[in-house]
Amino acid sequence: MPTWKPIVGQSFTPDQFAAYCQTLQWPVWRPSFIVLHNTGVPTLAQRPKGLTNQHILDLVKYYRDDQHWSAGPHLFIDDHQIWVFTPLTTPGVHSPSWNSVALGVEMLGDYETEPFNSGRGLAVHKNAVAVLSILCGTLGISPSTIKLHKEDPLTTHKCPGKNVVKTKLIAEVQTALITLHSGEHNVSA
Ligand SMILES: [Zn+2]
Repeated sequence: MPTWKPIVGQSFTPDQFAAYCQTLQWPVWRPSFIVLHNTGVPTLAQRPKGLTNQHILDLVKYYRDDQHWSAGPHLFIDDHQIWVFTPLTTPGVHSPSWNSVALGVEMLGDYETEPFNSGRGLAVHKNAVAVLSILCGTLGISPSTIKLHKEDPLTTHKCPGKNVVKTKLIAEVQTALITLHSGEHNVSA
């Protein structure tokens, strides 16, 4: 049985997450791209208040004790917050072909059936765009390299669901990334 990598277990707003990422270093393992997931189960409807600390502890039990994995995905994003699960500086377990080279980012919801552009799904969507732009900016990787889990040839999951449109999402992350850094180009005169 693999040794479990303890989780970080902290939750952040997007601004707090950006500050948190500034404190991280990747001297040994550095991810090359990001793989986006949805939880499928639980759905948004099954977690009316988003993911609580207890839900995160239950996920540890699921990945460690039921799946017998060494880790889980790196992040869980809901409509309120960003939970850091597996440390961003070490490989996680989320996508069979890409665990050794990519970060895994989970969004709460089932976007095969739940809306991604309205209601709570839109709040998750906005948090995900913020997170993806922060990670791309921190790691110096292009948003165009973002992959959806279903693109992994070794998976049969529809994850993250048909309501997540890759080209649109990447364009949104690109725009957010420009906004994140545009202040450096303002003329103050
Ligand atoms: Zn997935």
